[in-house]
Amino acid sequence: MPTYLYYTQGIHDFQEEAATYSEERLEIRLKRKKHRCPKCKSKDVTLRALYERDVRGLPMGRIREVHFIYTLHQVYCHCCHQRSIEHVPFISHPKARLSNEFERTILELREQISIRALANYFHLRWHTVKEIEKRYLQHKFATIDTSKVKAVGVDEIHIGHGQANRAFLTIVRDLESGAVIHVGNGKGVSALEGALSKLSACKLQLVAMDMANAYSTWFAEHFPQAQIVFDHFHVIKLMNDKLDHVRRRVMGRLDSIQQKQLKGLRFIFLKNNEDIPENAKNILRNLRGNFQELGDTYMFKEALRSIYRVVQNAYQANIAFHRWCKLAEETLVPELKTMAKTIRDRLEGITSYWTFGHASNASTVGFNNKIRWLIRQAYGFRDLEYFKLKIYQLPEINCEKSL
Ligand SMILES: [Zn+2]
Repeated sequence: MPTYLYYTQGIHDFQEEAATYSEERLEIRLKRKKHRCPKCKSKDVTLRALYERDVRGLPMGRIREVHFIYTLHQVYCHCCHQRSIEHVPFISHPKARLSNEFERTILELREQISIRALANYFHLRWHTVKEIEKRYLQHKFATIDTSKVKAVGVDEIHIGHGQANRAFLTIVRDLESGAVIHVGNGKGVSALEGALSKLSACKLQLVAMDMANAYSTWFAEHFPQAQIVFDHFHVIKLMNDKLDHVRRRVMGRLDSIQQKQLKGLRFIFLKNNEDIPENAKNILRNLRGNFQELGDTYMFKEALRSIYRVVQNAYQANIAFHRWCKLAEETLVPELKTMAKTIRDRLEGITSYWTFGHASNASTVGFNNKIRWLIRQAYGFRDLEYFKLKIYQLPEINCEKSL
């Protein structure tokens, strides 16, 4: 018959032998009801005590520290003549320090509460709570079903200030569902190691990516039928990088006071025209006069954005990008010239954006904001493996508060 241990702690097959309470800590000694052979279930067994285990259970009333103490036995079976260690049904693995019921409660609360707050409340170590979640995520994302995936996006994200390659992660996502398929260390083709086996089940038709990286060769080799698309988000991102480059170059020619002014304006330059406050627009107008190259580059960035607002199909896009490139090549700004070359070289991939129904724009921006949020939570830098698992989980996390 189930006891209070079963209803409150999910413990069965054991009964209470003794309970002691001291210093806000309840210790319940457990005894197994019946010993059986784990293999053939025979009751004809001889026991050998191995050692005592201490497993934390759920708090009871106001007592936060509830410990279950029991002796683990080795069983010799007279029926099947095998020696084995008894299975303990209320823990998830032989070395678990917390009961299943307690772990499950922590995982449920973890959706709403930070690791630190949980650890403080339950008198656990930060590391213990993190490891419980990590194990859960490892299990959850051990296999990812990609059989229905048709379109993926590849992105590099900057996660820290470490060594050049270690400061990046490469993420492959399903553009339709938003699910994360692969998180690779570093950037470049080596970061796709392990991605091929995950993607082999899918019928890939489209890959959206950055124009500046080497992934297109890798995808062309392994998925020759897939169309490479350089989408809105990535074209504008590269243009913003060019604009930033011009700003830095112009800055190099200024004295320190002028440099400070311009540095403070960095984010104005990267903003879209309609998002800039009115007073900042005046500063921008003056700057444009003072710094011809910077002004020109800014106008070209806006012109590029307007192509995406106005153009209706791949044919019109083709004409618009050619015109943009021609005008950019006529300027004296080297960054605009190289941007024009990149656009001409990748024009098919850029205009495919219209052929394939505006690939991925909004979801990439939204996901990158979630990544920034995850980095701000800062737990990534202590355990990269855990941080990567949290990226897999990101599509289902509500990022409005600190967790
Ligand atoms: Zn047996």
